[in-house]
Amino acid sequence: MRARTLPVLAAAGVTGLAWPATADAHAIGTVTYQSPVPVWLYVLAGAAAVAASVPAAALADVRIGSRLGGNLYRPGSGRLTRGLQIVALLLLVEIVFAGLFGSEEFASNPATVLVWVDLWVGLGLVAAVFGPVWDLVNPLRLLGDLIDRASPEPPLVYPERLGQWPAVAQLAAFGWMELAWPGGSHPFDLAVVVVAYLLVQVAGMALFGSAVWLERAELFTAFGRLMARVSPFEWYAAVDGPCPAELHEPGEVVGCAACWRDADPGERGIRWRGFTAGTWRDLPLLPGGAAMVVLLLSVVLFDGFAETTQFTDLAQWTHRHWTSLPDTGLRTLMMAGFILPLAAVFAAVAAAVGSRGAGFHDAVSRYAPTLMPIVAVYFAAHYLLYLVSYGQLTWKVIVDPLERDWVPDLGIWTGYPAGMAWAFQVTVIVLGHVCAIFAAHRIALGIVSRRRAAVWVQAPLIVLMIAYTVLGLWILGQAYAGG
Ligand SMILES: [Zn+2]
Repeated sequence: MRARTLPVLAAAGVTGLAWPATADAHAIGTVTYQSPVPVWLYVLAGAAAVAASVPAAALADVRIGSRLGGNLYRPGSGRLTRGLQIVALLLLVEIVFAGLFGSEEFASNPATVLVWVDLWVGLGLVAAVFGPVWDLVNPLRLLGDLIDRASPEPPLVYPERLGQWPAVAQLAAFGWMELAWPGGSHPFDLAVVVVAYLLVQVAGMALFGSAVWLERAELFTAFGRLMARVSPFEWYAAVDGPCPAELHEPGEVVGCAACWRDADPGERGIRWRGFTAGTWRDLPLLPGGAAMVVLLLSVVLFDGFAETTQFTDLAQWTHRHWTSLPDTGLRTLMMAGFILPLAAVFAAVAAAVGSRGAGFHDAVSRYAPTLMPIVAVYFAAHYLLYLVSYGQLTWKVIVDPLERDWVPDLGIWTGYPAGMAWAFQVTVIVLGHVCAIFAAHRIALGIVSRRRAAVWVQAPLIVLMIAYTVLGLWILGQAYAGG
């Protein structure tokens, strides 16, 4: 994201790292670090580690990841949840107000800092670790409850086949705002988008009912739910009546936050679950859910790629050949040129896997969740340092939204060793891909019971996951090597 390059550049300049800053501007989007071993060796070792996990996964059987822990949830009065929603609503008001009337600087305005750093990155990481917490703090729930009370019978029925496609469209727009549109880093423009977003959400909740709408057409609910699939915590509830979000039949349900919220406190819980279990124990994906997973993966990868020298070279080359193309158009074109082939490759792999099973659509909805560990580790590897650095601005922009210098400017602390950050990134990326291989094998075992046959069924997917390991490590390595 261009928005963060400049201040991080400044921050990286004062870190006093052991390695001199050899990189040019784009590469310092993260932290500069000259690895003692060439990047291709890391890439090769990572791919080999992931490939080596295939026989291990093949030896595992259906019991893998099936162990569940005891209930960790202690019922409260519900006042804490309401309180958090009210705080979130106040922050939303602050975002709009300060965005419209406050500073023009990315790092000094709550609109840009709270939306990009805390909401997008913070929510993703918190959901991946703890589960669907967004459902408890989402300020739109507060408005949704008011709307539902005013009109208990929504006037329209949500078209089932539309599924999560509205959320997919919002993710595409959000990714474009982050990576191609300069307005995304301008507080004023961002505040206007937030107001439009809120109007769409309120209209949707009024027309279709809040639970049904938020689940399918509120970007952050859908995003948080997907990230929660990799969480080691399982949110479960026993429900007698119909699901308020119309997602499943009555009974015990895993991963339906709408039911969890509505369930009697004695009828719901949070427990540890086996590793990668969320990829196959949570509710099946809605129509469009698989597209959401693939788009999310592509957006995060493209964000990393946009910080490499190869990207800059390609952009300059394209610019020379289409001199009339404006910068936003160029980045949009490059984004589409990156995302569409990734989506096409996943579709081809799903078709190949489906041809040995129950067809393309079945393979897509069954195996797309196995990409979520991969999405989550890229997300963590790519954004963690960003959250650690920029997250420090959070309290300042909240307390001093109009930049009246009510609080001292302490700058951003970036004293973490870059070598450790790089080691963390390589480790989580390899672990995430190994998890994905195990998850895919567990799901294949649900279709064919023989272990060797299961490996054969998902072979194209295994190749794809190893390719993702190579691509992800290579992109991260470029940012660190500094071109
Ligand atoms: Zn439900």
